[in-house]
Amino acid sequence: MTSADGLTFTVRHNPEALSAERRAELMAQPVFGRVATDHMVMIRYSDEKGWHDAEVSARRPLQIDPAASVLHYAQEIFEGLKAFPTADGGAAIFRPDANARRFRKSAERMAMPQLPEELFLASIDHLVKIDREWVPRTEGGSLYLRPFMFANDAFLGVRPASEYLFLTIASPVGPYFSNGAVTVWVSETWTRAASGGTGAAKCGGNYAASLIAQAEAKQHNCDQVVFLDAAEHRFVEEMGGMNIFFVFKDGSIATPPLGGTILPGITRDSLLTLARERGLTVRETLYSLDEWLADAESGNLVECFACGTAAAVSPIGKVKTARGEATIGSGSAGQVTTMLKNTLLDIQRGRANDTHKWVHQVF
Ligand SMILES: *Cc1c(COP(=O)(O)O)cnc(C)c1O
Repeated sequence: MTSADGLTFTVRHNPEALSAERRAELMAQPVFGRVATDHMVMIRYSDEKGWHDAEVSARRPLQIDPAASVLHYAQEIFEGLKAFPTADGGAAIFRPDANARRFRKSAERMAMPQLPEELFLASIDHLVKIDREWVPRTEGGSLYLRPFMFANDAFLGVRPASEYLFLTIASPVGPYFSNGAVTVWVSETWTRAASGGTGAAKCGGNYAASLIAQAEAKQHNCDQVVFLDAAEHRFVEEMGGMNIFFVFKDGSIATPPLGGTILPGITRDSLLTLARERGLTVRETLYSLDEWLADAESGNLVECFACGTAAAVSPIGKVKTARGEATIGSGSAGQVTTMLKNTLLDIQRGRANDTHKWVHQVF
């Protein structure tokens, strides 16, 4: 099998692939990211050879040298996307070209080589096809795909590595029951990303830096943390792994603007497009924590939600901070949130017309 890029993938079926019975058992209760499929994709990169040795083979542990640069200096990026079951027994992926592009941008920021988009797309197609039996057919299920790349030089000097591994692994996930609205904690202690930093890159380091704030949120009995801007600790940016939207009494919606410190979510972009198409007034604008609390209190803010690939759209019912808390609207999923969520899910799952050609049918 050859990709558009000309690199040939060697395909070796896993001789120890799980039996249909064992697979069904594991897929009955898939915990997010815990269950592994039978295969993975791996492509090597070196300054000398460029991208080479592309393979689809048994999912297995990696062997890396203890001096591998990723373990010391964290040159690592990743993506997250889903293959959805389609009614005709196939599988489709939502906007994988956008993930391929973002992966290149993340690589650029982290001084890593840029994987050609055709190779990124060929990798996920290969994996979804060879692990096709792992695409859940149950209502709400999907196959989560995790492409990632890391620096693999066995060298402790600080510089961009000269060798990298790109891999894609997959994991079946069940329906994400998020009917209940979540409570978020706004951290005024920790920030996620500063101007000129790595906030717009999907890199593991951003997550490492966000975990202490997520722990702070848990201590306050909140589900998720929301970060403020690093310069003034005043404007809402995003959550640890999802973008955030506000819905006002006049029917308009707002989300913080991308400015280098926020991860440009593909779900965010899709919802902005769908909302505009449906005639909603949409603003990408700065919104302060003070405004958030005051608007929730006055009733000017009627809904709030977070969005990302993993949970699609997640209503936010309550916001808590060190200086107080506020319930948003009814405290549960509102009308606009529900409408946008259903519109998106219907396109992703092939139940609605895909006018933007966002859906890529794999098989
Ligand atoms: C991945 C991610 C998102 C959501 O992006 P999607 O493309 O919608 O999945 C939002 N914020 C952060 C920090 C992320 O890493």
